Amino acid sequence: MKIEMKEEFIANKRIILTGDRPTGNLHLGHYVGSLKNRVELQNQGDYDEMYVFIADVQALTDNFNNPRKVRDNIKEVAIDYLSVGLDPAKVTIFVQSMIPELAELTVYYMNLVTLARLERNPTVKSEIKQKDFGNSIPVGFLNYPISQAADITAFQSTIIPVGDDQLPMIEQTREIVRSFNNIYGDTLVEPNALISDNKVCRRLPGTDGKAKMSKSLGNCIYLKDDSETVKKKVMSMYTDPNHIRVEDPGDTKNNAVFIYLEALATDEHFEKYLPLYKNLDELKAHYEKGGLGDVKVKGFLYDVIEDILTPIREKRKYYEENIDLVYDILKDGTKKAEKKASETLKEVKKAMLIDYFEE
Ligand code: ATP
Ligand code: MG
Repeated sequence: MKIEMKEEFIANKRIILTGDRPTGNLHLGHYVGSLKNRVELQNQGDYDEMYVFIADVQALTDNFNNPRKVRDNIKEVAIDYLSVGLDPAKVTIFVQSMIPELAELTVYYMNLVTLARLERNPTVKSEIKQKDFGNSIPVGFLNYPISQAADITAFQSTIIPVGDDQLPMIEQTREIVRSFNNIYGDTLVEPNALISDNKVCRRLPGTDGKAKMSKSLGNCIYLKDDSETVKKKVMSMYTDPNHIRVEDPGDTKNNAVFIYLEALATDEHFEKYLPLYKNLDELKAHYEKGGLGDVKVKGFLYDVIEDILTPIREKRKYYEENIDLVYDILKDGTKKAEKKASETLKEVKKAMLIDYFEE
């Protein structure tokens, strides 16, 4: 599948940037919502610069009391990246906290955003509810969309491949850029979100069929799960509660198993594992009419997931055995990224007239 470059992307220099929080291993939601697009973009080579980073500063905003978890998951996320096919020769992979310029930019941007604006962010709002912060919301947590604006603008990024929970963050970044440029003169670039053309990929539900698949919610199929774990998770997935007997007509719309197939299954998968049906439309039609059991559909979904995860697992094994190589990749990428971020910070300080000792 070729990713079409929309007009707004072509107008600017194409600098792709995206990140993930080291709060756990990457899962199928990341894969369909963002990772697949990143690898596709990388391989198309249709860009000027590409950055992927591990957002540990952001992870600490709601895991500040669990530093071990964040530390351990730096390595895990890095291995996940390399296993899905991100190539350090083409993509700069870095660790957020190792680039202090990002924190400095955050501080300057904080003046450009009101508290009321932060509190209106729908993703942050629902996360606050989910995390049960009550009246004890850490300032750093509420502030993370501003820190995200620093990450994006530090690299003058224009293309941000994300799931739809991140759209409010991109909007917030665009507002900060406009506000900064208005006050201090043209310095920063407005980014655009790149979201999947396939609607179900923008927010893949969890195996519970309810909220989005999320590391923090424990409703994930992880890229590193072994075959047995995947089978168990798929077989206990939520389907249509009214589809009791095989002959009953079933619902495919609010049915997580069909949503996953919509996100993952190709016609080649049908040919390989379920040749009785040409494609997903035919399978859906049969399920909706009645006469198709959940176990059969789940068995097919398992085959599809295994087809995707098997090569990823193999690569993972290699990097697990060569962990020094993984850290070297992070170190090199971080060094390269810091150079770029420090150039932007210099421009920012000049625009803000706080480059006192430059003359
Ligand atoms: P956490 O629960 O710690 O927030 P997460 O599972 O939401 O973790 P993030 O690191 O916050 O993962 O998200 C990284 C990227 O993956 C973002 O671009 C986000 O939009 C995308 N993403 C996360 N979950 C999904 C999902 N279920 N469907 C599609 N995209 C997703
Ligand atoms: Mg998240």
